[in-house]
Amino acid sequence: MRDLIIVGGGPAGLTAAIYAARAGLSVAVVERGFAGGQMTATADIVNYPGFETIDGAELARRMEAHARGLGAEVLTGEVRALWLKPGALTVVTESELPARALILAMGTRRRKLAIPGEERLAGRGVSYCAVCDGAFFKDRDVAVVGGGDTALEDAAYLAGVCRQVTLVHRRGAFRGGRHLEEVLRRLPNVTLRLEHVAEEILGDKAVQALRVRDLGTRAAAELPVSAVFVAVGVVPDTALLRGSLPLDAEGRVEAPEDGRTQIPGVFVAGDLRQKPVYQIVTACADGAMAATAAARCLRGGRIWKLWGCVRDADLQCGAAYDGRRGFGGGMGAHGGRAYPFGGPPGDMPRGGAGRCGRRRRGGDARPHRRPLSHRRL
Ligand SMILES: Cc1cc2nc3c(=O)[nH]c(=O)nc-3n(C[C@H](O)[C@H](O)[C@H](O)COP(=O)(O)OP(=O)(O)OC[C@H]3O[C@@H](n4cnc5c(N)ncnc54)[C@H](O)[C@@H]3O)c2cc1C
Repeated sequence: MRDLIIVGGGPAGLTAAIYAARAGLSVAVVERGFAGGQMTATADIVNYPGFETIDGAELARRMEAHARGLGAEVLTGEVRALWLKPGALTVVTESELPARALILAMGTRRRKLAIPGEERLAGRGVSYCAVCDGAFFKDRDVAVVGGGDTALEDAAYLAGVCRQVTLVHRRGAFRGGRHLEEVLRRLPNVTLRLEHVAEEILGDKAVQALRVRDLGTRAAAELPVSAVFVAVGVVPDTALLRGSLPLDAEGRVEAPEDGRTQIPGVFVAGDLRQKPVYQIVTACADGAMAATAAARCLRGGRIWKLWGCVRDADLQCGAAYDGRRGFGGGMGAHGGRAYPFGGPPGDMPRGGAGRCGRRRRGGDARPHRRPLSHRRL
């Protein structure tokens, strides 16, 4: 059994693997596609410290090589289910992979337009990644749908590859950065269609046109294009967690900065965790925090097992965190403390706080941590 399995090989997952491997844990990352996650769909990254500009695929390659170089395994496979029973954590791909702790870093996936033709023509001209698929439409006419940073970046990128790019946005103003909009307005082969909605993607075996409607005049028009690039936001990839962890209205997991969840031994990191800034650098920070917390809790568990105070079944990693109530409620609660046993996990027990069989601050005894003389092994 591995110490740690990380689901998702984006910047959060790969950074977690680097930190976990350096902490001496046996660790595997399970990734269904290319390691690097959303970075691989980004042409130029200009805000990752240390690189004035770097190609997203190159940054992804370096992070993966770094993790592998430290001994982390990077396995290819789609995780289909997660069994999150404390003490029997299992990642289900084509096989079952048990682990002592899990870090869930599945990130986000692109939101769909949900209009006729989109599903049928996906991969036949309908794309969610301009950087990945733009070259297939070299010197052709294409449309981009969306109004945020991603849509503006996609349109600017495609303008360098395709003949004509039409950017369709339902509002009167873009939500993306002003500088990007100014760049786009200067490009001769970019047409902006503001206050237009995409209604249907047309084509038999491949995309032939995009039908749009002017929200002012209500007139419909067909744009003859070979591809439609959809960039209307992202949704957290947390379908596997429904029913197991509390999710916010957008589907993100509420967890503190080190990613602890209310399930002992299960941590979250990256864009699927609710936080104010969703960027590569914050995903990396999440990965570092979650891996460090997981390592501490596993190490703490080992020490306590050696000490003889706990049985395997009683090992609980991480204090309970309830998004609404904070620490302390539910399974794995440790008297409202950030770490079990009254000190940072890994600390040897000292007289006083955390002693086996000692009464909790609240007064109730901890029946599962017996004094040495009472223990059953
Ligand atoms: C077009 C675009 C441009 C961006 N530009 C920038 C930028 O310039 N600077 C910046 O800082 N940020 C940028 N971002 C945001 C940044 O990429 C994300 O914040 C970051 O990648 C989040 O990292 P993550 O590891 O949480 O998730 P992700 O990068 O989404 O990685 C999650 C990984 O998990 C995998 N996965 C999901 N479900 C499963 C499963 N069931 N089984 C196996 N694997 C699974 C996915 O395949 C994916 O590889 C951009 C995002 C986009 C979309």
